[in-house]
Amino acid sequence: MAQCDWREKRRQVMSQARRVVIKVGSAVLAGPDGVDSLVIASLARQIAELVASGREVLLVSSGAVAAGRAVLAGRYDPSFLPHRQAASAIGQSRIMHAYDQEFSRHGRIAAQVLLTRDDLDNRERYLNLRNTLSTLFALGAVPVINENDSVAISELVYGDNDCLAGLLVGTVGADLFVNLTSARGVFAENPDENPTAKPMECIDNIADLDLDAMCGAKTTLGTGGMYSKLLSARRVAQLGVPTLILAGREDGALTQAFGDQGVGTFIVSGCKPITRRKFWLAYHHEPQGTLTVDDGAVRALKDKGKSLLPAGIVDVAGEFPVGSMVRVAAVSGEVVALGLCNYASGDLRKIMGLKSTRIAQVLGEAAYEEAVHRDNLLLDPAI
Ligand code: GLU
Repeated sequence: MAQCDWREKRRQVMSQARRVVIKVGSAVLAGPDGVDSLVIASLARQIAELVASGREVLLVSSGAVAAGRAVLAGRYDPSFLPHRQAASAIGQSRIMHAYDQEFSRHGRIAAQVLLTRDDLDNRERYLNLRNTLSTLFALGAVPVINENDSVAISELVYGDNDCLAGLLVGTVGADLFVNLTSARGVFAENPDENPTAKPMECIDNIADLDLDAMCGAKTTLGTGGMYSKLLSARRVAQLGVPTLILAGREDGALTQAFGDQGVGTFIVSGCKPITRRKFWLAYHHEPQGTLTVDDGAVRALKDKGKSLLPAGIVDVAGEFPVGSMVRVAAVSGEVVALGLCNYASGDLRKIMGLKSTRIAQVLGEAAYEEAVHRDNLLLDPAI
């Protein structure tokens, strides 16, 4: 995108965004005694200003483990998962207390919501959550969301709050995602190795970036690092939502960014947004298996927008029932799509490589012609 185009786009987005998800990481919030109260005070003040200007803000805040481990001090062992979960339980109430006090100074109510992956991949809970969040917005409250670390075990976890916040952009239909980090934005080169490196002002081709090559290191606090921030930005770009990655420890950075000053890195959204349903299908469910498909099938999916037929499948990995979320991979191993599979893994192994007209002969009935229907398929997934 030409320089003037993205600047104009950014100006429009910042002035017109009405519903914003803001995520703040542990590395921004942590201070020597747990959580830095000055950072919380500054965030609450700036967010209260945004709400007063007619915007609805959902805050995804980490920092529970960092706050709790400061309380536990010498008794805390970071390599022991139950200690991290306990530290989160201890720290979460302290963080919320701090937000509550600071928001109320500006006449705003903070509302805590703790979530696990289970909550968003269950359609009923997902809808309940959406209702609660829209009621909170209507009441002028600021939802403050964190992962429910104390009950989160491997199959329940998002892994990091960047992922959770990105999914919530879809849940609440936000029109902007702001990710507050300990860095001043996204750097093309490592600023520790090259002190003159400057953050990139704009990324207009997030789908084409090689994230593995760009992001070697992770920050020590928090679990995400820049990789997971860019991955989430890529996901929300598919929904048509831009991301701003901004320095969270700089007092006033949010106000400046909404006041049309070009700080941070602006990540332009995709021009052909996917539906919220496809976003929910693809990113709220853990894939249960992988269908490897031949080159002809890859072309049919990618270039012609077709459904995946059993004929194009050369291998089925994993055991899964009908209706499971699966990866669709090329023979090279590259994942080209995520989709809902019409057949269980056992049946699919019997009909893979066969023309659809033979499905009934082999299985007794042909419930579907397609293995994965294109309406249930997300191409180029950010995973
Ligand atoms: N939920 C964790 C916490 O509050 C942090 C997870 C993350 O940093 O992404 O400390």
